[in-house]
Amino acid sequence: MRQYMGTEEKILKKIVCNQCGRELKLENGIVQEGVFSGDARWGYFSERDGENHQFDLCETCYERLIRGFVIPVTVEEETELL
Ligand SMILES: [Zn+2]
Repeated sequence: MRQYMGTEEKILKKIVCNQCGRELKLENGIVQEGVFSGDARWGYFSERDGENHQFDLCETCYERLIRGFVIPVTVEEETELL
């Protein structure tokens, strides 16, 4: 869950893990730890037709989520970290 400063400029003011409610570390609008941002746009063939869902998970909650997968996530190593 993200809160922004002002209305026009999108400067991140607060970011909270939707699963555990913990506020993630921010510095000058930049997240200082691992975060997973979910963005689901439900279309015509869905029960949620027309809904857009957005959420954020801290690294701990993300790990908990993927541990429940029958098929593990595909992992690729970044060759150049920004
Ligand atoms: Zn969490």
